[in-house]
Amino acid sequence: MENKYRVLLYYKYVPIEEPEEFTAQHLSFCKELGLLGRILISAEGINGTVSGTFEQTEQYMQALKADPRFADMPFKIDEASGHAFKKMHVRHRDELVSLRLEDDVDPNEITGKHLSPPEFFEQMQSDDTVVIDARNDYEYDLGHFRGAIRPDIEAFRELPDWIQDNKEILEGKKILTYCTGGVRCEKFSGWLMKEGYEDVSQLDGGIVTYGKHPEVQGKLWDGQCYVFDERISVPVNRVEHVIVGKDCFTGEPCERYVNCANPSCNKKMICTPENEYKYMRSCSHECRTNPRNLYVKEHGMTAEEINARLAAIETEDQASAE
Ligand SMILES: [Zn+2]
Repeated sequence: MENKYRVLLYYKYVPIEEPEEFTAQHLSFCKELGLLGRILISAEGINGTVSGTFEQTEQYMQALKADPRFADMPFKIDEASGHAFKKMHVRHRDELVSLRLEDDVDPNEITGKHLSPPEFFEQMQSDDTVVIDARNDYEYDLGHFRGAIRPDIEAFRELPDWIQDNKEILEGKKILTYCTGGVRCEKFSGWLMKEGYEDVSQLDGGIVTYGKHPEVQGKLWDGQCYVFDERISVPVNRVEHVIVGKDCFTGEPCERYVNCANPSCNKKMICTPENEYKYMRSCSHECRTNPRNLYVKEHGMTAEEINARLAAIETEDQASAE
């Protein structure tokens, strides 16, 4: 497979004046280059993932590095066999990542210590340390650092409340946080420090940088890293591959994400191809029988076929209940 394409992941918290105007300019610039992806711009900075050919991504990085605001912005570069997006979006937001705080955190004023991958690797194995995954539950479920705590949240903005409710986990501990590329931890670790936690550190460059580091090579990461593009996941641990993902129906080891076929549910489910067929890619009986079910549509299923599939599930449920 030829890797003529690349995926860039990057962020920088830096004041951007007239962010709406910059958003419009940046969109036309990205379109001119032929990039695809998703970029957020706010008065507090930029956060993006884009895909393009080697030349396109090279031109993009050079252009951003020529802008004093982004001159020192680190880019995480993945080789790819094609684009990782279907469209090019550049959107203006009030915040790069939202913790829904009354008093927002400016990572340029307060943030946790940045640990390099080898430093993080050492520190996470220490008994006086607690590692908190700063991502969402479905990201954790596909892969995470061995022993890391999984906040029971579906969106980043729920994290502060979850911490308030689970304070005892952090008491007297050194705290390590990590996320995909680092942009969420900049704020989350800053918020923890504002809350009075003294020893707070974050994984510099996030999971994707950790996986590429020649010394640690992703060690102590289990599973895959969820990413917000068409790849869905990328490998991290180059030394061993432990599968932690579990099929949501049977619990068997699985690393394949699909969305519930009921469009108004759309829940992310880890699911084997066999169970996708069996359960019509739907999380519940209600979703399976929803009149707008996409699986039914995609497969042109007749009422008879649907009933047969539903009956098979019922038989199975009865058998496992006995
Ligand atoms: Zn559903």
